[in-house]
Amino acid sequence: MQHMLEEQMIQMVDLKAQYKRLKSEIDAAMMNVMESSNFINGPAVKTFQSNLEQYLNVRHVVPCANGTDALQVALMALGLKPGDEVITSSFTFIATVEVIGLLQLKPVLVDVDTETMTLIPEEVKKAITPKTKVVIPVHLFGQGANMEAIMHLAKKYGLYVVEDACQCLGAGFGTKRKKQKLGTIGHIGCTSFFPSKNLGAFGDGGACFTNDDLLADRIRMLVNHGSREKYFHEVIGVNSRLDSLQAAILDVKLKHLDDFNKRRQAAATYYDDVFKNIDEVAIPVIQGGSEHIYHQYTLRVLNGRRDDMFIFLKKQGIPAMIYYPQPLHKQKAFSAWIENDLKLPNAERLSNEVISLPMHTELTEEQLDYISTAVLSCFMA
Ligand SMILES: *Cc1c(COP(=O)(O)O)cnc(C)c1O
Repeated sequence: MQHMLEEQMIQMVDLKAQYKRLKSEIDAAMMNVMESSNFINGPAVKTFQSNLEQYLNVRHVVPCANGTDALQVALMALGLKPGDEVITSSFTFIATVEVIGLLQLKPVLVDVDTETMTLIPEEVKKAITPKTKVVIPVHLFGQGANMEAIMHLAKKYGLYVVEDACQCLGAGFGTKRKKQKLGTIGHIGCTSFFPSKNLGAFGDGGACFTNDDLLADRIRMLVNHGSREKYFHEVIGVNSRLDSLQAAILDVKLKHLDDFNKRRQAAATYYDDVFKNIDEVAIPVIQGGSEHIYHQYTLRVLNGRRDDMFIFLKKQGIPAMIYYPQPLHKQKAFSAWIENDLKLPNAERLSNEVISLPMHTELTEEQLDYISTAVLSCFMA
């Protein structure tokens, strides 16, 4: 691999190669915005918003500045009181739980299934108290949490469901007869257009989705300084916008999203076929009812040699990542909310077992072969 040209080098996410493939479309869309100089809330934002509504089959998409803001304004829209409890996963990116704390709500972290790495509905149920108001299922690495069970619990206990759909845009959930896109099943769905996400901008971006007209109206007001009419403010909101250049780029990429996700699935199938017979690793397990669009391709290394494998791959010029090395109930930032002795054995175990391999839309067969051969040789030694 040492002698490979820079453009052939294996990347964790190859944004440059993807841009090269779509360059003429993207450049034209950007030029359009620059020539109009309509940089904030220009027509490109409206166009992208309505195309995404159509793609997701959801009544409302409210664009905002990033996925973290989307989660924050979603919670702000629900009229919660300080101390209200929000149940979510301990095995996720910090943003999911950070916004709960920022709003003076109480994060209640529960364990995940070791195979799908998503919320265990029975654990959610055990954590429900009279103060519980919201559940945030995280659709981790590109596949859904058990939405059927979670929606059932939410209905039974009168809870809101805010889906963290930052890693799963485009994945469907349900039966053949009734399939919905993840992020449109709960009361509000939140996504991120961070460059490395499945639908990535050339900077930050995010959005909330909802089928509820009142919630949509509230979220629109909240992202715009709590204002419906310019210079009149009903509540304290935030300033969170998707800018027109990002919207124009995203609108081009949205047309390719299904193709992007198919390319990721093809790469995952390649990896699965090579790794499924290695005893020391577990390949991704797909949640019943969910599609998997492989935001990450994450193996579990079962023999305690995950860190050896990570170093071995680095030496072969293969980037890999550990998502996530520390579950959130162990993070210092949350120590005020989480009991010291809280044990979530699956999340703790996963943080020592997981390793994510290069996964993007531009992986060549040659690269997949090189990566999987290296992983295999790791277990021969
Ligand atoms: C990326 C991500 C976020 C936050 O998105 P930003 O756009 O980076 O703010 C939140 N939750 C999960 C699970 C994510 O992967």
